[in-house]
Amino acid sequence: MYKRLCPFLFSLIIFCSCTAPIKTDSDILELNYPATLPVIRRADWGWQPLKRTLPTHAISKITLHHGGVDYPPGKDPVKYLRELQQWSRTEKKWIDIPYHFMIAPSGAIYEARPINYPGATNTDYDPTGHALICLIGNYENATVNQEQLQAIIEMTAFLAMQFYVPLYAIKGHKDYTETLCPGKNLYQYIENGTIQSRVQERLIK
Ligand SMILES: [Zn+2]
Repeated sequence: MYKRLCPFLFSLIIFCSCTAPIKTDSDILELNYPATLPVIRRADWGWQPLKRTLPTHAISKITLHHGGVDYPPGKDPVKYLRELQQWSRTEKKWIDIPYHFMIAPSGAIYEARPINYPGATNTDYDPTGHALICLIGNYENATVNQEQLQAIIEMTAFLAMQFYVPLYAIKGHKDYTETLCPGKNLYQYIENGTIQSRVQERLIK
């Protein structure tokens, strides 16, 4: 019986593995946010599913970025995110938006690239192992408001707890390579330790 069944099963496995569509959504690591951290999930802002993936990574660092482009007051962040996703995939050939979380001027936090896939960069550092948080806008020019700073601290504290990231591994993009990112007006809060110390306060609560 088995002798007759096995070749059939074997060819079925070959057939299935050759014709099955590439299913990626189930590989995405979904995070459970506490009620105090109302992150807007991908499914709630029109994020388009991945068409391809990358080898996954384990988070050991948290790195802050800015968009690097002036952001007009009143611009709809959902429209911005949809356009950024489209541009990332078509122009840059990345799998998705380069960052894992995007923070709007209101302080609203949006999920972007799934956290278990390494981010992307136009510079020469390797983003493998980094959780990437991006403040939408250009913080060489704009100042960081209290809602944004609070959102950065809450998101960073959550990720630090979730992935056991030490405070010294919370840095800015410019700590890894030649770039202005995340802009001097955001970087000052990393350089003077404000973000790290306020994250620490949350970790010991
Ligand atoms: Zn950056």
